[in-house]
Amino acid sequence: MSRIAYVNGRYVPHREAAVHVEDRGYQFADGVYEVCEVRNGRLIDERRHMERLQRSLSELRIARPMSLPALSIVLHEVVRRNGVRDGIVYLQVTRGVAKRDHAFPPPGTRPAIVVTASRIDPAKTERYAAEGIAVVTLPDNRWERVDIKSISLLPNVLAKQVAREQGAREAWFVGADGTVTEGSSSNAWIVTSGNEVLTRKADHAILKGITRTVLLDVLKAHDLKLVERPFTVAEAIAAREAFITSASQTVMPVVRIDGKPVGNGAPGLISTALRADFSRYTEKS
Ligand code: PLP
Repeated sequence: MSRIAYVNGRYVPHREAAVHVEDRGYQFADGVYEVCEVRNGRLIDERRHMERLQRSLSELRIARPMSLPALSIVLHEVVRRNGVRDGIVYLQVTRGVAKRDHAFPPPGTRPAIVVTASRIDPAKTERYAAEGIAVVTLPDNRWERVDIKSISLLPNVLAKQVAREQGAREAWFVGADGTVTEGSSSNAWIVTSGNEVLTRKADHAILKGITRTVLLDVLKAHDLKLVERPFTVAEAIAAREAFITSASQTVMPVVRIDGKPVGNGAPGLISTALRADFSRYTEKS
């Protein structure tokens, strides 16, 4: 089955899918995105992802390119046309195409939209989860509004590359105060020796992950104590367990931080239980 992308109103073969050279996403990273997990051919937590998309658009004063019901049809159609059963659907909206000028383009410039879908082999993700992943830590050098899911991801790109070069799957950003903010494409969590589950409060210093939000319900159902506070790298290394959350990985155990083992160096019981139970708490559409 050949891949299909949705680009500004048309379903086109993926290899021919293209945007204009003066698309503001291309020129200025002036746009936002969302990534929704696809499981058994259904979108996971679409409603929450669309709410966050709307918030990102509003914060950047970009118009929504179409109504939410129309957008939902496009997302499902791209998943269907690509025959994606397990994977992700990616949506990007930019401020549109206009003569290059940093200031906003003339009123009436239509936002540009691209939707793609890709398969992810669930068995591969399960293998990572069974072994646990390594993370490295790096200074957080991003701007102050990372709560907006903007396509401007250069620090995240560089951080992920450092992680890969050091044999790790993720990089954790560390703020000037020595506490972990979040991963380059995930939220960061630890479980303390007292079985408290720690993650940072969702303020402007992190992206409020949809997986993070759903996990709060899972924690409640498991009678686990949640503490929303920052933690240091030393605390994370000394923790009983650590894990990350993101739409494409749900709950992924972390077993090494900067080369040092977390707990006994194997995925923790709580992380594993949360991962196993996670999908019960998601919305499927
Ligand atoms: N933080 C960052 C920087 C991300 O890029 C992501 C996801 O891509 C997340 C957190 C997790 O968000 P979600 O659970 O909505 O995928």
